[in-house]
Amino acid sequence: MAIATINPATGDLLKTFEPLKDRQIATKLDLAQQAFDSYRKTSFAKRAVWMQSCADILEQDKAEFAKLMTLEMGKPYFAAIAEAEKCAVVCRYYAEHAADFLADTPVKTDASNSFVRYQPLGIILAVMPWNFPFWQVFRFVAPALMAGNVGLLKHASNVPQCALAIEEIIHRAGFPPGVFQTLLIGAAKVADIIADDRVKAATLTGSEPAGASLAAAAGKQLKKTVLELGGSDPFIVTESADLEAAVATATTARMLNNGQSCIAAKRFIVVEAIADKFEKLLLEKFQSLKIGDPMSPDTDLGPLATPDILHELDNQVQACVQSGGKVLTGGHVLSRPGNFYPPTIITDIPPGSPTEQEEFFGPVAMLFRVRDLDAAIKVANATPFGLGASAWTTNERERDRLIEEIEAGAVFINGMVKSDPRLPFGGIKRSGYGRELSIEGIKEFVNVKTVWVK
Ligand code: NDP
Repeated sequence: MAIATINPATGDLLKTFEPLKDRQIATKLDLAQQAFDSYRKTSFAKRAVWMQSCADILEQDKAEFAKLMTLEMGKPYFAAIAEAEKCAVVCRYYAEHAADFLADTPVKTDASNSFVRYQPLGIILAVMPWNFPFWQVFRFVAPALMAGNVGLLKHASNVPQCALAIEEIIHRAGFPPGVFQTLLIGAAKVADIIADDRVKAATLTGSEPAGASLAAAAGKQLKKTVLELGGSDPFIVTESADLEAAVATATTARMLNNGQSCIAAKRFIVVEAIADKFEKLLLEKFQSLKIGDPMSPDTDLGPLATPDILHELDNQVQACVQSGGKVLTGGHVLSRPGNFYPPTIITDIPPGSPTEQEEFFGPVAMLFRVRDLDAAIKVANATPFGLGASAWTTNERERDRLIEEIEAGAVFINGMVKSDPRLPFGGIKRSGYGRELSIEGIKEFVNVKTVWVK
């Protein structure tokens, strides 16, 4: 894939970038290692000043960054502003808490003094996707740099200007040169970089094939990885739920980021007793959404990020229909310039339909009717993924069963699945492993050193 900015709302090619040559990559690796040798010795207080400065820049210049995000991957401008603000929040969170999270932890043993110390590992490679082009990077950068690591970013090839802007923010914030660098490279170069002795670990957010490929390359070198991959999150609605609230959140949760979020609700599992009403309300909501220019404040739904994503989504919808699914609204590519797909609802999907198990990365909701809570939990868990789940009930017993029995990295009751710096984020099954954010996230890329003194 060429490294280029192509406006997804128009299809216009706006800028192309030459990938780095091998010797340029080598120079950047040298610089990263030199940077680590001194940066690892800086105090938490010093790092926190730089990280707070990142947050200031993100807040001050959010309009400029939001424009870049919308231009390169098509998310509505209001959502891009919110993304820049959320990046500032994660920077401040780790600036304030990293020293406590990574303080020596005393443990009583037979030694006169024994404790656990957390030390940085070195260069960490981050392979990141285009869907949250700032957030995905800052949720890696904030903990990794506060822990004393240095970062190399291989961003998705369709968001090079976002990748360069992030490097510039970190430079402007005062971090020493080399502490964070963007590598404009294609995916084929990733394995070579992981093979370099100085690169100690890697994290990837993206598709299953990309995750498997990175994990295989890292495994060969016995290096740690954290993977945040796809999801086909269930959104369960029981008879006791507040239906109006559930439908409003269902719409937001499916349309988030033009439907391109790993934690978007994708499979709507509704008990029979309220299914007709839920379906009617959801249909009204979906049909009321305004599709158009993502820069316009009236737009609810912008284009998908690339023509490939658009066609892949449409192929999945057509396959679902072929297998017996019924389209209630949408269901075809819009004939206009840009990568636009309408809000789509599919019902009556027969059990065993091939697409039932897939992730739909766009504004398409699959609606399943079930007899009762037992059936709802069964359908919710009948997926190779296990990222998040949203469940709606006012019944305590139902709530406790959902929390206990749903197979996912997160369960949200009466709310939309979302990431929050204070809470761990990550999946099980084919959604990946490891955690980002919170205290768990910062401990993924440190040496947990046992110290024992007689
Ligand atoms: P990819 O997983 O292909 O891309 C994500 C990142 O991984 C990019 O930086 C990409 O680089 C890189 N990459 C791709 N292949 C490899 C590889 N073999 N080794 C190392 N790095 C690699 O996502 P796509 O953009 O192609 O989207 C395809 C599907 O992935 C979506 O439809 C969706 O299902 C899922 N996805 C999930 C995301 C999530 O948040 N969990 C985010 C994005 C996508 P490059 O751009 O240069 O190819």
